[in-house]
Amino acid sequence: MEETKPKLRHMAEQLARLIEVSVTLNSTLNLDELLQFIIKTAEEILNCESVSILLYDEKRAQLIFAAATGSDSKRLAEIPVPLENSIAGEVFLENKPTILSDVKSHSRHYKLVSTSVAFDVHNMLVVPMRTKNRPTGVLEALNKRNGTFTEADEDILSIIASQAAVAIHNARLVKALREAYNEISAANYLKTNFLALASHELRTPLGIIIGYATFLQEESPGELSDHAKQVLNAAMQMRALVDAMTNLNMLRSKEMVMRRVMVPIQLILRGAYNEVKKLAEAKGHQVSLNLPKAPLPVKCDPEKLNTVFVNLMDNAVRFTPEGGKITVSASLNPGGDMLVTIQDSGIGIEPSELKKIFNEFYQVEPHTTRKHGGLGIGLPIAKGLIEAHGGRIWAESEGHNKGSTFKVLLPKISTSVLSTMIR
Ligand code: ADP
Repeated sequence: MEETKPKLRHMAEQLARLIEVSVTLNSTLNLDELLQFIIKTAEEILNCESVSILLYDEKRAQLIFAAATGSDSKRLAEIPVPLENSIAGEVFLENKPTILSDVKSHSRHYKLVSTSVAFDVHNMLVVPMRTKNRPTGVLEALNKRNGTFTEADEDILSIIASQAAVAIHNARLVKALREAYNEISAANYLKTNFLALASHELRTPLGIIIGYATFLQEESPGELSDHAKQVLNAAMQMRALVDAMTNLNMLRSKEMVMRRVMVPIQLILRGAYNEVKKLAEAKGHQVSLNLPKAPLPVKCDPEKLNTVFVNLMDNAVRFTPEGGKITVSASLNPGGDMLVTIQDSGIGIEPSELKKIFNEFYQVEPHTTRKHGGLGIGLPIAKGLIEAHGGRIWAESEGHNKGSTFKVLLPKISTSVLSTMIR
């Protein structure tokens, strides 16, 4: 009776330690830290000279030392352990733990390991590590101090191994996610830099092309002037793209300078419509500007709001098949905020896409079958510019071929600044 007391106390201590191990394993997501924790605690609980973790390398179909106490772990990592003709391999393949007391005379003892790290193995306990449906590797405990490994040791190491397998699986997933995230960030950085560089470098040659094409169009006789006009139109389109890229870069780098003045929204909306009028007429659209007579003042950077409404109207024209209907309206809501809507009878937007279209480079149509051109940056720019004005922008549509409505809400202006309006 007296003898069993210390034994019971020892078991209780081990159980308490196992619970501690379980909590730490479940909360550590760094793979290296996790492996170190597993081997150190297992060595301590089992009271042995060394513990190592061998993980299965699927590509090479071998076990690889991932961490070890008591030996040169770097050197160990260089020695792959074959599945055939090794004790670890046998435990891994058969998914059964094993206790060996005279390791050196065992036919499957893989001698290369002990000779390489000059570690003399007498006895060992090896248990498999696996998650629900996948073998992960094995845990090895070497040289029990004061005796040989027992079945109780086997139970303890098996409990550690099954929890370690899940923790290792999770840590690997997190590592893979981090790597993927870093790759995406690097690609995103390249893309941002490319945009900044490309828009900057294209600006000067485009200026020259536009200058000479304008000169040629004005000075050349007959057909030549028409050719020059075509060049000019194409160059102007390119400049609009370069301007859009520059705007996007400025929004991202928060470098944008706002020059706010008071203007009637009618002035901005009419100006924007003039820029898309030709295109709208060419497509035979019926466009109504539903604007109140009395000026509706807005405190804004007129150039930036112009960019927003040109983008929205240009989209309405492009995404509406010929002979469509487009209505632009502006009004004050009861709270005094200004609401501008641009409604079209076009191809519409599925509800699931309504938010995504404001993401950079997002286009509903797949790139390979695109009919409408564009870069997918008009709406994110519009969103950035409207938000810089303290406003909100969103899209509404009942789905495919049901038309779309884009709404912009600009905040109420305090009465004290109303008198400074430009007319
Ligand atoms: P782009 O027009 O250059 O593709 P935008 O950022 O302006 O880029 O628009 C993103 C996407 O949102 C468009 O490619 C299109 O799929 C969708 N979209 C925008 N405006 C409309 C609209 N009025 N009707 C239908 N779809 C639209």
